[in-house]
Amino acid sequence: MGEPDFFDAGTLVGVLTTQPLDRVLDYKAPEGGCWAGAFVEVPLGPRKVIGVVWGKGRGDWDISKVRSVIRVLDVAPMREEMRSFLERASQYTLTSMPSMLRLATRAPGLSDPPSMRKVYRLGDSEPDRQTDARKRVLETLRDYGGLSFTLKELSDMAGVTSSVVKGLVKLGAVNEENAPRDVPFHRMDPDYDAKDLTEDQATAAAQLTADIRSQDYNTTLLRGVTGSGKTEVYLEAIAECLRIGRQALVLLPEIALTAEFFGRVEARFGAKPAEWHSGVTMTERRRIWKMVGQGGAQIVIGARSALFLPFQNLGLIVVDEEHDTSYKQDDGVLYNARDMAVLRASCVGASVVLASATPSLESWANADAGKYKRIELTSRYGPAVMPDMRAIDMRVEDMPSGTWISPTLRAEVTARIEKGEQSLLFINRRGYAPVTICRACGHQIACEQCDARMVEHRFLKRLLCHQCGESAPMPEACPSCGVEGKLAAVGPGVERLAEEAKEAFPEARLAVLSSDLFGSARALKEGIKTIAEGGADVIIGTQLVAKGHNFPLLTLVGVIDADLGLQGSDLRAAERTFQLIRQVAGRAGRSERKGVAMLQSHQPEHPVIRAILAGDEEAFWQAEASERRHAGVPPYGRMAGIILSSTDVAEVFDLGNALARNDQALRQIGAQVFGPAPAPIARIRGRHRVRLLVKADKAAPLQSAVAKWVGQFKLKGDIRLSVDIDPQSF
Ligand code: ADP
Ligand code: ZN
Repeated sequence: MGEPDFFDAGTLVGVLTTQPLDRVLDYKAPEGGCWAGAFVEVPLGPRKVIGVVWGKGRGDWDISKVRSVIRVLDVAPMREEMRSFLERASQYTLTSMPSMLRLATRAPGLSDPPSMRKVYRLGDSEPDRQTDARKRVLETLRDYGGLSFTLKELSDMAGVTSSVVKGLVKLGAVNEENAPRDVPFHRMDPDYDAKDLTEDQATAAAQLTADIRSQDYNTTLLRGVTGSGKTEVYLEAIAECLRIGRQALVLLPEIALTAEFFGRVEARFGAKPAEWHSGVTMTERRRIWKMVGQGGAQIVIGARSALFLPFQNLGLIVVDEEHDTSYKQDDGVLYNARDMAVLRASCVGASVVLASATPSLESWANADAGKYKRIELTSRYGPAVMPDMRAIDMRVEDMPSGTWISPTLRAEVTARIEKGEQSLLFINRRGYAPVTICRACGHQIACEQCDARMVEHRFLKRLLCHQCGESAPMPEACPSCGVEGKLAAVGPGVERLAEEAKEAFPEARLAVLSSDLFGSARALKEGIKTIAEGGADVIIGTQLVAKGHNFPLLTLVGVIDADLGLQGSDLRAAERTFQLIRQVAGRAGRSERKGVAMLQSHQPEHPVIRAILAGDEEAFWQAEASERRHAGVPPYGRMAGIILSSTDVAEVFDLGNALARNDQALRQIGAQVFGPAPAPIARIRGRHRVRLLVKADKAAPLQSAVAKWVGQFKLKGDIRLSVDIDPQSF
């Protein structure tokens, strides 16, 4: 590209910072020069900020006025491949470069001079005099085994002042050390404990390993029913990646980042992999960030933000449960981890494995079109077999009003309890009841900010809007007619189902799994562990239970309302229902015991329900694909969502309307704009949100047209605009 790699002292360099500025700023290279990609500290106004040397400076300045880089940081420069990944990701997601850089420099402490860093770990002696504060510090350190923390981390975690820690250092109960700067992870042994693969698995693994050896970019969709050994297969791919000296990254939906999974990887390779997610301590993150860059961390298992780690030589990215919607969440930058994994891999010549029992229609279509390779595992490993799938026709069941467990399902659960097996009752609705109605006037309690109904949460004793999060105490009287004592719950939520189950199965031990009922991820993990160890007979759960957990005693899954989600106007509703029910059903019969999944439905002849019952995924995808193709929506057309938000409703609608009227840039590429309409989440933290949807042909240059279109307007007041390429709902 003609750009130099090294800049001599005094030459002009362009530095990208994480400050919200439109462009790369010019500085003079410091004494000793600097490499392209170097992390540097530069003056910006009165402040000093961290940035990356992005390339040559523009040079249209009076050079004597240009300020100098203050210093080069003691970390490896950002590789060219990473810089080009960030640029392409920025163009794809229409996110500014400073925001992209922020994702890539999340490792905290990048800015503190390493020599200043002290860390604290458990010492050898006990203090003579214990205080509560001291005890908390020591317990925190014991909780985390041999880990060390900075003074601030440790005092924050223990809830003490830093002088308590310093006091313990004097007593020898805590050791103060220089930060471990270069502690690599233990070497992984690719042949430590390889399993004998079945024939299908071995064929699959052989294909993947050949792809990895090619060291060229490629993506494979690894599809297989739950329990078919997809994980075993991609562990073999990782082994090959290690053998050729490259690093591997495994992305999991955050909820699936369980100790069980890490244990499995350690057992396979004889050493602990690096663990990267929001729950990891700052010290550990710094270490991983550095080690990943030096090749001292060979396997990283993490949440989607791990995609932005500075790998030295990345050879494989596995995206497990690739269809999971949590891969796309708004954390400032709207991106889908699956798509970013493919982009990242294509920048370095790495392989991607997308693993799922129920792939997204996007990946299915890409495989169908030959853009991705496809591998299928059709049977479960060992004695475990796919559960039987049966429908319970709710039109003929005798259902007393206010009950949701049919007599048929109830008898099945009772039989399981007697045999000492577990049953799972699944309902995808949080709270107690979806509707609260006044029996005097018929009024339904709705959210004042949204069109949505307020959902009663008896556990929290409040009404909650699931759209905007608004909440209110449960009223005594109807807010419309004022009559007291006539408000009634209509329809089931997970809490109400639990209530019914308690009555129906009085002897059983119940466990309720819903995100509202757990204060923390840790409490949730405990709950899941208890169930896995047989501490419950009947499990009542929302979609939390659908993901990756292994409950060996579970032999019955009852889906309370299989029709839920089939009616909405959301074009992805059928896909989600299909994936969710298939996944939940897959929880049954994962060990020797055969499982059954029973779907309560008022329309068992609905095509989605029929496809689920028949286990005929191909038929489902084909039908879904032809509908989407017909509608010209993803994956057969392209879409972008533009979200405008402001505390002032009128302002956002005004701008939305102005955008809708001035759509020349879009019409030039044959794209259409819809809206403005209230966004799927219409109000967040006091900000009103409206959405415009842009629809274009598959081949249309959507991003550049959208950039030009929204670029016409300067944002006034507190209006914010964000672009969501490939929105999840449309
Ligand atoms: P998936 O990822 O498709 O859900 P897993 O890889 O988790 O499937 O396999 C399901 C279970 O079967 C796991 O406990 C796994 O260890 C076991 N298993 C799968 N294949 C083999 C094999 N070839 N040898 C021994 N155990 C296997
Ligand atoms: Zn609301």
